[in-house]
Amino acid sequence: MENMHELFNLSDRVALVTGGASGLGKYYAQGLLNAGANVFVVSRSEKGWDELSQFAKGCHRTVKFLSIDITEKNAAKKIITACIDAFERLDILVNNAGIQIRNNILDYRDEDWRKVIDLNLNALYFLSHEAAKVMTEQRSGKIINIGSMQSFRAGKFIFPYAASKHAVVGLTKAYADALAPYNIQVNALAPGYIDTEMTKALQNDSVRNTEILNHIPAGHWAKPSELIGTIIYLASDASNYVTGATIPVDGGYLLR
Ligand code: NDP
Repeated sequence: MENMHELFNLSDRVALVTGGASGLGKYYAQGLLNAGANVFVVSRSEKGWDELSQFAKGCHRTVKFLSIDITEKNAAKKIITACIDAFERLDILVNNAGIQIRNNILDYRDEDWRKVIDLNLNALYFLSHEAAKVMTEQRSGKIINIGSMQSFRAGKFIFPYAASKHAVVGLTKAYADALAPYNIQVNALAPGYIDTEMTKALQNDSVRNTEILNHIPAGHWAKPSELIGTIIYLASDASNYVTGATIPVDGGYLLR
């Protein structure tokens, strides 16, 4: 029987989180630090860097930051090189940064389609590709892609987002299959309705809020902290025989 503490322990592991200093990514970075990992965070602005540095100190762990737009040409190579320079290895990649742009299908602008696909799909692919080079050398690694309920739904006002998140599920499977012989597991997490600043307006719209709550078997919006357990599970040895899966963390939303 394995020691349960050891199974989930991330001490000496290095995790890279895109968009890890704010939004949901901040919770993932904090969870990984708390579980013992050192963390490399990538974002364009320095928003949240101080707060996360303080948090890391409290965990006796190190967090390092790189300010870069991950959709830039060659960003992936620069990011992985900077992470290896800082920590000499890369064990866990969390592809979290993502955007959503809403519009009617006939009014949708070409540049908005490109923006969404560039960040949610292309940047995720290029970073996974560079990370895989390091992880195959190491003969170990975990790649965690952030999907969405829109990985499984039509999303008619946010169809590029839905298309990119569907593609994340497909890419997760292809990478999982190709990298399994190298002891690298590739999985995705599909968050449901999360109580964040971004969704406050929706929560304050009582008609929409009631519709949403009626659709969630668990009967409530998730707190961001309710996603962390799945991230730690997918980052740890506890999930070593799980690969190619997309795990909904949605209070059962997709069941209805
Ligand atoms: P936020 O917009 O709150 O955070 C996005 C993060 O990514 C920020 O830290 C941002 O930092 C960073 N980022 C954005 N664009 C870039 C870029 N081009 N280069 C580098 N960093 C970038 O998003 P959420 O936390 O809400 O969402 C995170 C992920 O979770 C996304 O993939 C989203 O699709 C998914 N998701 C979210 C849900 C929700 O309810 N919030 C539900 C389901 C899925 P900066 O601006 O400084 O670059």
